[in-house]
Amino acid sequence: MPEKHLENEHLMREKALQPPAGFLERHPSKPYLSSLDEYKKMYEESIRDPGSFFGGMAEEHLSWFKPFTVPKVPNAPLLKDNNGEPSAWFVDGELNACYNCVDRWAIKNPEKPAIIYEADEPDQGKIITYGELLKQVCKASQVLLNLGVKKGDTVAVYLPMIPEAIVTLMAIIRIGAIHSVVFAGFSSGSLRDRINDANSKVVITTDESKRGGKIIETKKIVDDALLACPQVTNVLVYKRTGNSHIPWTEGRDLWWHEAVNKYPSYYPATPVSAEDTLFLLYTSGSTGKPKGIQHSTAGYLLGALLTTKYVFDVHPEDILFTAGDVGWITGHSYVVYGPLLNGATTVVFEGTPAYPNYSRYWEIVDKYKVSQFYVAPTALRLLKRAGESYIEPYSLQSLRVLGSVGEPIAKDVWEWYNAHIGRGNAHICDTYWQTESGSHLITPLAGVTPTKPGSASLPFFGIDPAIIDPVSGKELEGNEVEGVLAIRSSWPSMARTIWRDYSRFLDTYLRPYHGYYFSGDGAARDKDGFYWILGRVDDVVNVSGHRLSTAEIEAALIEHSMVAESAVVGFPDELTGSAVAAFVSLKSRSIEDPSAIKKELVLTVRKEIGPFAAPKLILLVNDLPKTRSGKIMRRILRKILSGEEDQLGDTSTLSNPQVVSHLIEVVKAK
Ligand code: ATP
Ligand code: MG
Repeated sequence: MPEKHLENEHLMREKALQPPAGFLERHPSKPYLSSLDEYKKMYEESIRDPGSFFGGMAEEHLSWFKPFTVPKVPNAPLLKDNNGEPSAWFVDGELNACYNCVDRWAIKNPEKPAIIYEADEPDQGKIITYGELLKQVCKASQVLLNLGVKKGDTVAVYLPMIPEAIVTLMAIIRIGAIHSVVFAGFSSGSLRDRINDANSKVVITTDESKRGGKIIETKKIVDDALLACPQVTNVLVYKRTGNSHIPWTEGRDLWWHEAVNKYPSYYPATPVSAEDTLFLLYTSGSTGKPKGIQHSTAGYLLGALLTTKYVFDVHPEDILFTAGDVGWITGHSYVVYGPLLNGATTVVFEGTPAYPNYSRYWEIVDKYKVSQFYVAPTALRLLKRAGESYIEPYSLQSLRVLGSVGEPIAKDVWEWYNAHIGRGNAHICDTYWQTESGSHLITPLAGVTPTKPGSASLPFFGIDPAIIDPVSGKELEGNEVEGVLAIRSSWPSMARTIWRDYSRFLDTYLRPYHGYYFSGDGAARDKDGFYWILGRVDDVVNVSGHRLSTAEIEAALIEHSMVAESAVVGFPDELTGSAVAAFVSLKSRSIEDPSAIKKELVLTVRKEIGPFAAPKLILLVNDLPKTRSGKIMRRILRKILSGEEDQLGDTSTLSNPQVVSHLIEVVKAK
């Protein structure tokens, strides 16, 4: 047998760390699972018989108006058997998503806090109980009905992180309508495209928003978008700041506070079928034009519920703080649905990690005794750069679980998170998943799965990952293999389609490797069966036949004490086919000898990985191009480097478009 060879082997030398003892000491009771063996047993069952595994889970955890019967088994869990049909789970059952998130807890304990709202200004905010939430939702539902919103209609939501964002989503799904949230940092053009693509007739927004001490003219952005959305009949406006000079169209626009007061505080939830659409959400657009991902009701709910429960080990008394925006899937699944479906308490944070200073997250954690904190590596890199003096004054003793999501988390950042935020007592969960997956795919389970810094570890229940050789298209069996990450069978919260474009759904996810769901990401499975996400397949750099992952070179660069962030791309090279270029932003902008630093960076990569991975070109830049969700857009760097800056493609999802001209200058001066 040929010796197995892992191109990115250096990443995987890490030894597995056992769950920290402090996790158990801080636990209010005990974790749901007692051991890794129990996880393995349940996992095997979920793969062997997904129908009965998830059927049992859905009966136990969701409230049904009409129970699903046979076949409990989904329509072809093995994707190779599904003949191009969408997957379907719990098909003849009926339920209501809002009832599952709100009513059942309001009935049981109306005084229990559902939402802790932390406003942009630290001393403003409020707590909303499940009982109060139910009343507000019922009133808002009736407003929507009165505006003509019917079951199956889409409603566009353009709201900042305020409790009314949750009230809005719940009000929409209570009447069987479909929400389409657009991140409130998007421009009017991007908002317009998403409203039109989803054919929304009602838009819900605020007069203005507040973020990081700044005022954003939200309603004005909506009005600009609506100049080209003829189908929109009404805009419901929540008064956030109360400034009087916002644009207003009589007959179309109405104030939230006036509208909701007209209705009684109870309105029953509408039963929908398990497979009816719950929401649409456009992806971040890291790789190109965003896709309107469509999720179904029961499957999505079950995925969000079970991952919140088992991955974050959320118990009813827990307080979750997901520092992500409701405009992204992380906000949907782990600010809104996951916590509420478990009857826990969720923190809705309106501000930024840097306002009024870099202590803000830690202040919130201590103030509310947060047990689970969940954030993206981009924010961690920012806070790491700001320094430990912002963390030291805080106890952070309530933290049991620290989650990471959105990009690979470099070992260096993982260790910083563990040491300075968890202080060695919290379980770090590097959760790998996507808008399309609805909930976590590969992730440690808190208190149960050993961790290796930089690895997302093991698959969640029902996720049957495969590593495929991108050249031959064949599955690579066994451990110590790397290639493209695919999934063999459908799982309940898998997206059903791209809105009104099933053939694009097939082309993007199901046709590239027949019989598998294609993730678009590269991954390796190490000797212990742990998964390492190596970055997007499009981003792989092929140097002299070595397929190098951007994630691993970036992880090596960030080991250097002066590096704040880095992004690696390939560029054509006569000798090696492709060569590595690294765009690096340093912690300090005033550098005495840039060429000495560049040499050190090259040495760091040679030492950490090997000479073949050493960057041929290092470009020191002030900032990197990022999506509005904070992810690095390497495609922009590739284009600029190859002199194709006139062909950048869709840049509407860039959060910092001004960086483009800076990058062009740096590249020209190289
Ligand atoms: P688009 O699909 O439009 O290019 P996007 O992929 O950035 O945008 P999301 O669905 O928000 O949109 O992001 C999912 C992707 O984020 C994954 O496919 C993966 O590339 C990356 N990702 C998420 N979590 C992790 C993680 N823990 N480790 C590594 N990569 C991650
Ligand atoms: Mg994607």
